[in-house]
Amino acid sequence: MIKIKLRIEKDNLSHKDTKFTNNMTEFYPSKVWQYCPWCGSKSFRAGAENYMQCDVCQKKFYINASAAVACIIENPQGEILFTRRAFEPAKGMLDLPGGFVSLNETAEDAVRREIREELNLEIASIQYIGSSPNQYLYGGVIYFTLDLGYKCLVSDFSNLQVADDVDGYVFISHKQINLHEICFPSIRKILQLYLS
Ligand SMILES: [Zn+2]
Repeated sequence: MIKIKLRIEKDNLSHKDTKFTNNMTEFYPSKVWQYCPWCGSKSFRAGAENYMQCDVCQKKFYINASAAVACIIENPQGEILFTRRAFEPAKGMLDLPGGFVSLNETAEDAVRREIREELNLEIASIQYIGSSPNQYLYGGVIYFTLDLGYKCLVSDFSNLQVADDVDGYVFISHKQINLHEICFPSIRKILQLYLS
């Protein structure tokens, strides 16, 4: 029964769907950034989807995906731990704990660091689930992310305390998960990969 419900919602939640992806093109770097960072010329524009180029000095700036991690943590009852987002984008909506991978950091270290920062918990083991791209609007520009999903084993929840960019947490059983309460299409996709 759960599977059927998730399948139906999956069809309704294609990347064209949701208020988070509608009209996002106006916030693409190629629409927001107007000046060449090298020579200052205003002839700095999209050469292709993944780079911008200056007509004057010819230099190219590539726009690559930023890596981020999303963590599925279950309590001993098998309920999944969701965080509530403290800030925009998607302030107040449910999210999986996680965040951007820092420069020169592994995804696994990012998982351990984010779970410490957001929840004050230690991870006993990590298992990769799969990935999903997202478009993250922050500060008036889109960051193209690749969200990497991990199943994380936590054996001790006694120190659980939210901080950082998290406003609260809730444990939800698989049956009770409503994908429309989940912040981003990529997070829904990672949940679907895990639950299917
Ligand atoms: Zn230039």
